[in-house]
Amino acid sequence: MITKFDEVIVGEEDIRRRVLEIAAKITDDYRDREPLLVCVLKGAVFFTADLVRQVSIPCELDFMAVSSYGSAADSSGVVRILKDLDAYITDRHVIIVEDIVDSGLTLSYLRKNLTARNPASVEVATLLTKPARQKVDIKCKYVGFEVPDRFVVGYGLDFNEHYRNLRFIAALPEEELG
Ligand code: 5GP
Repeated sequence: MITKFDEVIVGEEDIRRRVLEIAAKITDDYRDREPLLVCVLKGAVFFTADLVRQVSIPCELDFMAVSSYGSAADSSGVVRILKDLDAYITDRHVIIVEDIVDSGLTLSYLRKNLTARNPASVEVATLLTKPARQKVDIKCKYVGFEVPDRFVVGYGLDFNEHYRNLRFIAALPEEELG
């Protein structure tokens, strides 16, 4: 287990500032619409927790857990729902809160799945995108940061369940990725 990260991709203060900006936008965009924020476990847990506490209109929170078949570094787009929403979302304004859009396949599946339940709207707030790797065209209304084509960890994102508790986002050293 390494403890030192040489390549910090997004620092703690930058995350804090961007989360405030996104929360302000959501507050503006969803006035009188009481959005339902759907946190995609586990990676988006800290982003969601920090974001929702800065949204200053009434909103609700729910959770989904999905697993994408494939290796740690490559998702296949075949997604299994491990935990579904508790809430019915018909006629609700849904915001999917994700950690990272890599190929976009997981989010594409999730969006289709939730749209089939007839919500009033579905938008996406993602902390990170990796534009160099995107395979499907996904519209994300709220994006925290674009990151380079590296495997990143921290602030909720893991490698084999490690490093979620870092307060910043760092590139995993290539030798550890294997
Ligand atoms: P996609 O389907 O967009 O290729 O992959 C999405 C999921 O793969 C993310 O929700 C995340 O769980 C995982 N993932 C993709 N890239 C990274 C990365 O750089 N670091 C970590 N920790 N997970 C990633």
